[in-house]
Amino acid sequence: MGEHYDVIVIGVGSMGASACYHLAKRGTKVLGLDSQPVPNTNSSYNGNTRVIRLTYQEHPDYVPLLKDAYRLWEEIEQESKEKLFHKTGVLYMGFPDGDAITGVKLASKKHNLSYSNLMRSDLTKQFPQFTLPEGMVGALEPNGGYLLSEKIVKTYKEQAQLKGAHIITEQPVLDWSHDNNNITVFTKSEKYSADQLIISAGPWSEPLLHLPKLKLSVTRQVLGWVQPSQPKQFRRGDFPVWNIDPNGDDNLHGIYYGFPIGNTTSEGNGLKVAWHHPGNPMHPDNITQEISANDEEEILLPLRRYLPSALGTIKDIKVCKYTNSTDGHFIIDRHPDSNRIHFACGFSGHGFKFSSSIGKILSELALDKKTPSSIGFLSMDRFTTDK
Ligand SMILES: Cc1cc2nc3c(=O)[nH]c(=O)nc-3n(C[C@H](O)[C@H](O)[C@H](O)COP(=O)(O)OP(=O)(O)OC[C@H]3O[C@@H](n4cnc5c(N)ncnc54)[C@H](O)[C@@H]3O)c2cc1C
Repeated sequence: MGEHYDVIVIGVGSMGASACYHLAKRGTKVLGLDSQPVPNTNSSYNGNTRVIRLTYQEHPDYVPLLKDAYRLWEEIEQESKEKLFHKTGVLYMGFPDGDAITGVKLASKKHNLSYSNLMRSDLTKQFPQFTLPEGMVGALEPNGGYLLSEKIVKTYKEQAQLKGAHIITEQPVLDWSHDNNNITVFTKSEKYSADQLIISAGPWSEPLLHLPKLKLSVTRQVLGWVQPSQPKQFRRGDFPVWNIDPNGDDNLHGIYYGFPIGNTTSEGNGLKVAWHHPGNPMHPDNITQEISANDEEEILLPLRRYLPSALGTIKDIKVCKYTNSTDGHFIIDRHPDSNRIHFACGFSGHGFKFSSSIGKILSELALDKKTPSSIGFLSMDRFTTDK
């Protein structure tokens, strides 16, 4: 049997690396175990950057979590002296009665958040890069922007280690067991024990959780980078993070979104574009990194349609995984088998922006058995039929 720990965290990814950091910050003896190197290109945070925005309409209780997350992003930037968040503003575009535009307005009103309404003529003047169908309008959220996701996972891991966390990588956890006194975690070559366990294994959560009522579907998603012929007008500083809700335009669906061109390698190379939509469910180990003509078309279509001035050579396409819950909301809860075990999963393609606060919440659940954050809406009992 290896050493005994206060808390073991299975999965040092987006949520787990942040949890290790917050646990170590409180002086806890913590072990983080990951099956892969940290960071790696096979997890859910692959692809350099992630959008962050405050005007969240998906559920009213997400906004307070985001306000905590913003505060904690600032804290980790100051502590690590690393630039992790670029506040570029987020430009929403869509039809006036579509989900994106009505969502921004409702969330802003409810939570007293600032945004500006952009009529079509304002959009054309301020953002001439876009070519939009008749009737589309805009809303600009000044506090949105993007996070450097791979750099953040690396930073949280390193800051956790500086505070004494023990992180072991390339050691997959095969299973765990518990009795009244201890949790035991098994890898191929070792056994570790702890008082508390956190499971944050992303796409690989389902088999580790042993919860038959929990259904997660893992989907393959792609992110692409292009080189526009005139890059200047798309650079960070002149161009925001943007998203377009195409609903009502030619049977298109989902959300198309993109990022400005940055000037550091952590931001990726070129103008980044993606499509937020339900991908095909498959086992995470069967998700191929090979790029097809369909993947290329997925990247070029929104440019051809809405941002033709950016069309250019595809420089890179990366593959990533969504872990979808059945209702698209996160799942953060105590494991029904023991109050020493907590888990977070099912981030459904929109969790990264919250990872600073979710790591803290997981540390509070493990150490205090409660959190001041309102996370009742994310509990697992919403899936039980006999409530
Ligand atoms: C293409 C794409 C675009 C996205 N865009 C956005 C966005 O713009 N904004 C946003 O907020 N979110 C976005 N997301 C979602 C966000 O990235 C995820 O919600 C988040 O990264 C999920 O974090 P996680 O900790 O659950 O999983 P991960 O970050 O994948 O971490 C899981 C970790 O567990 C480890 N692990 C798994 N099994 C084991 C095991 N048996 N033993 C030990 N370790 C194990 C893995 O190696 C991994 O390190 C996007 C996701 C994708 C794929």
